[in-house]
Amino acid sequence: VWFNLNEVIHDVVLDLQHTANRHILVMDFGETGDIYSDKERIGQVLTNLVTNAIKYSPHANRVIISTRREDDRVTVSVQDFGIGIPEDKKDKVFEQFYRVSGTKQHTFPGLGLGLYISNEIIRREGGRMWVNSIEGKGSTFCFSIPATLKS
Ligand code: ATP
Ligand code: MG
Repeated sequence: VWFNLNEVIHDVVLDLQHTANRHILVMDFGETGDIYSDKERIGQVLTNLVTNAIKYSPHANRVIISTRREDDRVTVSVQDFGIGIPEDKKDKVFEQFYRVSGTKQHTFPGLGLGLYISNEIIRREGGRMWVNSIEGKGSTFCFSIPATLKS
């Protein structure tokens, strides 16, 4: 269906803000316009990314969700200031059941499926997903999907 990406993201973020006690979810939206995609699944991907951003930043309180459009693509990014991901583990986090081990002060519950599922969803929508991260500083997970303008 056609939907306004920012509206959907806004609704998902407001829902998640209710359950996030300590974190502040900051929205930084560029004009995305309407896109043709699977609204529920895009919402699910965003939920996974924001949930991770909260879970893996126990000592930070800000998560920034941004959107932007470049020509025929829209990009969504979720930035946290948490534990980060070691350079050599960045690609692995998208694998089924993979979890980074050796984070000593905290245990983070999970199965290692959220990113695998999210990546699959984005691929099926014709997009891609990637991560920029510095260990100990934070991570930014991004996905971009094709967005032909509604005519
Ligand atoms: P779940 O299946 O409940 O999502 P999970 O969060 O462990 O469990 P993924 O979301 O697939 O699984 O993430 C895989 C691994 O990647 C995590 O276990 C964690 O080690 C790492 N990771 C994911 N997001 C972040 C993040 N924002 N900051 C640091 N590490 C992360
Ligand atoms: Mg997860």
